[in-house]
Amino acid sequence: MSFIQNTNRKENHMSTHTTGEKPGKGAYTCKACGQVVVLDNTNDVLPPCPKCSKTTFKK
Ligand SMILES: [Zn+2]
Repeated sequence: MSFIQNTNRKENHMSTHTTGEKPGKGAYTCKACGQVVVLDNTNDVLPPCPKCSKTTFKK
């Protein structure tokens, strides 16, 4: 008897960042509206979304 389980999906290569963090250089996409915020300095603090003021982004 064998069981095939397919619960180990690998879709979490996107990391989440929140306003106030210093996640480093890169483009961060607002999870709420899709607005892209670009940080070009490693010491830049991730701001609230300039479009919808939400605070959660994915990279
Ligand atoms: Zn937004």
